[in-house]
Amino acid sequence: MNSEIMVVIIGGGVTGAGILWDLSLRGIKCTLIEKEDLCNGASGRNHGLLHSGGRYAVEDPESADECARENKILRQLAPWAIEPCGGLFIRLAGDSPEYTERWLAGCKAAQVATEPVALAAAYTYCPYLSDDVAEAYLVQDAAIDVYKLVRGLVIASRSLGANVMTRTEVIGFIFRGGRITGVRVRNTSSGFEEVIGCSLVINAAGAWAGKVAQMAGCRVKVAPDRGILLVFNARLASCVINRLRIPGDGDILVPSHNVSIFGTTSGITDTIDDQMVKRQEVEYLLAAGSELIPGMRDFRRLRAYAGVRPLLGSDDIADSRNITRTFKVFDHKEGDGVDGFISAVGGKFTTYRLMAEKTANLAAAKLGCNKPSFTGSTPIPAPEGTQQANASKSFYIFRKDSRREDRVRQLICDCEGVTDREILVAAISLPWLTLNELRNRSRFGMGTCQGTFCTYRVLGLLIEAGLIQSSEALGLLMDFLKERWKGALPVGSGEQLRETEFAHALYAYTMGLEFASGRMKGKEFTDATRPGL
Ligand SMILES: Cc1cc2nc3c(=O)[nH]c(=O)nc-3n(C[C@H](O)[C@H](O)[C@H](O)COP(=O)(O)OP(=O)(O)OC[C@H]3O[C@@H](n4cnc5c(N)ncnc54)[C@H](O)[C@@H]3O)c2cc1C
Repeated sequence: MNSEIMVVIIGGGVTGAGILWDLSLRGIKCTLIEKEDLCNGASGRNHGLLHSGGRYAVEDPESADECARENKILRQLAPWAIEPCGGLFIRLAGDSPEYTERWLAGCKAAQVATEPVALAAAYTYCPYLSDDVAEAYLVQDAAIDVYKLVRGLVIASRSLGANVMTRTEVIGFIFRGGRITGVRVRNTSSGFEEVIGCSLVINAAGAWAGKVAQMAGCRVKVAPDRGILLVFNARLASCVINRLRIPGDGDILVPSHNVSIFGTTSGITDTIDDQMVKRQEVEYLLAAGSELIPGMRDFRRLRAYAGVRPLLGSDDIADSRNITRTFKVFDHKEGDGVDGFISAVGGKFTTYRLMAEKTANLAAAKLGCNKPSFTGSTPIPAPEGTQQANASKSFYIFRKDSRREDRVRQLICDCEGVTDREILVAAISLPWLTLNELRNRSRFGMGTCQGTFCTYRVLGLLIEAGLIQSSEALGLLMDFLKERWKGALPVGSGEQLRETEFAHALYAYTMGLEFASGRMKGKEFTDATRPGL
């Protein structure tokens, strides 16, 4: 057992990464353990909205207040992960004007800045809005690149000596007396098991936190709340669009890089892993969205995906929309008589820093460390190769002051403007190279063509750079295409369906992949993952 490690953090989402950064800044040695890749859970499957707090101003004032404060802090400390596009709250003629009054009062109380906007100006932010807009208010919403932020936190923590183990699942706990002294882990790729000793374990396993706590004989109530999102192939608005009414389904649009993300829904689920989206769910969201943007069905939809919010559970969950978006930190010594074990549950991506600070405060106190948190004032260094989130890609590529080594040879992903250098930098940082993980880190394949034209270029680049063997390329490609098509199937119609079928034809017939797949055990397309021609 490695007795040098002080704290083990379970979960490589934004909460785990935030705790890692906080404790590392206090000089506490930590190991973060993630069963898949970083952002495997809700942190990689959300809306990407850095909330102003407006959404929660009436029903959840505590969360509104937390969002408003954290929004300001994060803009200062990680500008490279944030596009400060602003947001609009739109009341349609049929929505209650009385609710607007309560909303304005709630925003004022939570110090969420609002500014009324003339109707004509609202249409300049989003020309596709309904003709029925009755009122519009500007707020400080922003779009956040969730993968970039989590990666930034992890890289910065590593530079301070933290250790990060991905593809490693915590499968049990080691006890001495009533105290946890280590975790048993299994490598999810090789199956290798080992024990990691520590003084304290922090459970930041999101929707899985209840299951993890149970392994230690403790009880944590999590309400796993499923939401689905649709990705459109263009920016339908230049700022975030929220509907000004009691928060409901299908009332937020977030412009993100070159696409727009629309959603979402809310409902308690029994299944946390492997979320598939159904066509009926897509139809339901489109119907809701068409009230705000009547032509929504005419825009090209690239894919749909689902995530599970790790909301704070309670004994009475009648409507998941009414569950607070705030968080709680549990010291299991008090509730369950198990020492050396803390769980952090609930919260939003926007409020991760505050949740991490509160968790780290408790951890530090238990370890006898009296250093305060520094995360509220310490800038998070941008990961290598990261430009300002709002800077135009073409400017980045061709700017005159580029250093020679920064210059790129070619664009690999035309839709999202991802260069060969960005792909290589991301690939080198991956301990276990898969195209899905590379996509999350670089954004290749996330745009209009969904990887049709860039995936094989990426493979060529990786082989040329000696990062993979040519014999591995086919397996990597098949896994990637399966995942892309899983998201494309529920939204397939019109132009996008034609493009999906074209992509399939290109890979399956021109490149002979279907033939190859027949020989690859476990890699075949199934009827559910392959669009028919
Ligand atoms: C549809 C949807 C939309 C959302 N939109 C927004 C938004 O716009 N703005 C916002 O602020 N918030 C949003 N949220 C909420 C936000 O995404 C979550 O609150 C946040 O990402 C939770 O982060 P986390 O690190 O606590 O959990 P997660 O990101 O779920 O991380 C938990 C991690 O633990 C790992 N893990 C689990 N068990 C083990 C184990 N035994 N061993 C090792 N690792 C393990 C998992 O693989 C996972 O990576 C949204 C959520 C959803 C689902």
